[in-house]
Amino acid sequence: MKLGVSECLLGTQCRYDGTGAKDKYVVNILQNYFELEAYCPEKIIFGTPRETIRQVEVDNNIEIHTNQSKKNVTVELAKISNELADEALEEELCGFILKSKSPTCGMERVKVYQPIVNAPNEKKGVGLFAKALRERYPYLPMEEEGRLEDAWLRENFLMQIFAYKGIHQFMKTKPKMKDLIAFHTSYKYLIYAKSTVAYKILGNIVANNKKQSLEELLNDYYHEFLVAINEKGNISKTYNVLLHIYGYFKKLISADEKEHMLTAIEEFKQGVIPLIAVIKLLNLHVKRFNMDYLKVQKFLNPYPAELGLRSNIKAYK
Ligand code: SF4
Repeated sequence: MKLGVSECLLGTQCRYDGTGAKDKYVVNILQNYFELEAYCPEKIIFGTPRETIRQVEVDNNIEIHTNQSKKNVTVELAKISNELADEALEEELCGFILKSKSPTCGMERVKVYQPIVNAPNEKKGVGLFAKALRERYPYLPMEEEGRLEDAWLRENFLMQIFAYKGIHQFMKTKPKMKDLIAFHTSYKYLIYAKSTVAYKILGNIVANNKKQSLEELLNDYYHEFLVAINEKGNISKTYNVLLHIYGYFKKLISADEKEHMLTAIEEFKQGVIPLIAVIKLLNLHVKRFNMDYLKVQKFLNPYPAELGLRSNIKAYK
C-alpha cells in the first residue's frame, strides 16, 4: 500500500533552511506498513536552501510571494503542485500525509498575509499542493502530521485508508452482484459505526430497488462508500454496533458471560476501557461459535492490530 507524504516529514533536508521536519509516527510506525512516496514541490522549483515564501491576499486572490525579494511565484508553485498532484494518480495512493502550516503543503489554517507591511495575518489558507490534491481526489484520505497526534483523528484516518484500499481493490476485480453483496456485508458494521445515513444509502443501493444495471450500481456504491468512510466515528455509534454484534450470541452465552460482556461495552461507552478490550471479547465469542457472518466484519479487524490504534481510550469520543 502506498501513502503520499510531504518529503520533509521523512527527515529529508528539503525545507527552506536546509533542515527536515521528521515525524516520528510517519517514520517509525507508518513506514513499517506502507510504501511512502515523497513529494516536495518547493524543492523542485526553488532548490534548497531557498527564500521563505508566504501566502498573500491580493484583490481577494491568494498569491505566493517570496519574503525577501518580494517576487510573485504563484504561477511556478501552482504549476509544479498541479503536475505532482497529477503524478500522484499514477501512483495509486491510498492516502496522503501533509506538512501542516506550509503555504504549499498545509491542508488548512495556513497563514494568509495582507500586502501591507506589519498587517495581521489570518489562518485561513490552504497550501497550493494540498489544494491541487484535494481538487483531483476529493475522497483521498488526507491528514496533516500535527493532526495525527490526536488519537481520534489517527484512528479514523487509518481506518479510512484501509477501507479506501479495500474498495479500490474490490472495484478492480470486475465484481458481480454476489460479490457486491459480500463486500457490502463485510463493511456493514464499519459503515454503521461511521454513519447510519450512509449505512442506509449503501444498503438501498445493494437492494437495487431502482432496478439499475450492475455498472450503475457499482458506480453509485463506489461513490457513496467513499463518502461514508470519509465520516468520523464516535463513541455512541460504535457503542450501538457493539450491542448489535453482542446480540448475535447473547442467547448462546451464560448469564455471567453476558454480564461480563455488557459491563465491558458500558465501560467502553464511559471511557473506562479502550475499544480493543471489548473487541477482544467479541472476537472470542465469534470464534467460539464460529459465526461466519461476524468473522468477515471489517469492523472487528479493520487494520493490522499491531498499529494499536484501538488501545487508546482517546481514540473514541
Ligand atoms: S512542507 Fe512541503 S514544500 Fe515545504 S519542505 Fe515540506 S514537503 Fe517541501
